[in-house]
Amino acid sequence: MGSVTETASTIGYLVRALKTPTIGRVWEPLAATAREEGWSHEDYLAAVLQRQVADREANGTALRISGAHFPQVKTLEDFNLDHQPSLRRDVLAHLATTSWIAKAENVVLLGPPGVGKTHLGIGLGIKACHAGFPTAFDTATGWASRLQTAHREGRLEKELKRLRRYRLLIMDEVGYLPFDADTANLFFQLIAARYEQGSILVTSNMPFGRWGEIFADDVVAGAMIDRLVHHAEVLTLGGDSYRTRSRRELLKTPPAQGGEQ
Ligand code: ADP
Ligand code: MG
Repeated sequence: MGSVTETASTIGYLVRALKTPTIGRVWEPLAATAREEGWSHEDYLAAVLQRQVADREANGTALRISGAHFPQVKTLEDFNLDHQPSLRRDVLAHLATTSWIAKAENVVLLGPPGVGKTHLGIGLGIKACHAGFPTAFDTATGWASRLQTAHREGRLEKELKRLRRYRLLIMDEVGYLPFDADTANLFFQLIAARYEQGSILVTSNMPFGRWGEIFADDVVAGAMIDRLVHHAEVLTLGGDSYRTRSRRELLKTPPAQGGEQ
């Protein structure tokens, strides 16, 4: 056995070789605690490794969340289910487990503006990031321009392949802007490429019956919907816009003295 300083520098070298910086930070203070509290060697090793794994998981999640480019952070926990009485809680709880992403299944959220489609999409995306699934968020228009650029530069195949490393693609706001036939074809290729390979979560203000209007052609829209919903959970949200809810409620309810706002 070497001296204490020799051992410390050996550990320093080893944690760099292992690329485990957290161990580099915690081994010494944890060793002091272990001595004071009489931990076994096994307890000490478990404590050191546990800290490294926790840090690595937290870093991975943070990287996935920032890499997903969510427009805001919205969580499922912040979603008020009372405002969506028809939304099946068991279905949402199932989706929150992310097991559908492991199976490359899809989710479609339909409903009018302001009912929480984007909120739920982001919330499920954040769950995916926590569960270790690389995720990418963009609006349908955003995806359209990415695909158009790739196509124009002759690297559509490569781009579709690159997107495979994301286990979940979120395509928000399908239906707000219509696409021309060429762009509709690019969307079809994206959905076909991911069919049974990787998950897509789509939000739309348009029922499937009107997707022909969005994608220039009923046949292309039908082929897309077919692949999208073959293994999918389709949730329809309803009710009034949540955006104008507080204003409406304020107008309805006279402010009570000392009452809740
Ligand atoms: P949509 O995408 O359906 O148009 P959003 O998800 O953007 O609607 O929701 C509009 C706003 O209302 C957002 O700030 C969102 O966080 C909030 N919101 C909508 N529904 C709910 C809900 N049930 N609980 C909490 N916040 C909600
Ligand atoms: Mg939205």
